[in-house]
Amino acid sequence: MAKDKKLVQSQNCNGCGICVTVCPTNTKLAKAEDFDVNTAKLAISVSNGAAVIDNLACIACGICTRNCPVGSLAIVPV
Ligand code: SF4
Ligand code: SF4
Repeated sequence: MAKDKKLVQSQNCNGCGICVTVCPTNTKLAKAEDFDVNTAKLAISVSNGAAVIDNLACIACGICTRNCPVGSLAIVPV
């Protein structure tokens, strides 16, 4: 997908992990028979108590931004 926008994260993240579960890219990866949460290229994951975005995997769909309880995520133009 051509990307003229990207997902960014602010300091507000509390590591709740909701974004990880609502992300359609992550869901698609999780359906693979050989899915391994430790090695999969998740679009967004939680590490050390905060969300980590993989902008190569993320398709900037914005679904996570609408589900984050503290408004930590946003889609911005690139
Ligand atoms: S970015 Fe939002 S939804 Fe994702 S872990 Fe942080 S607080 Fe939770
Ligand atoms: S913008 Fe879409 S693809 Fe990217 S992390 Fe959020 S839900 Fe997943």
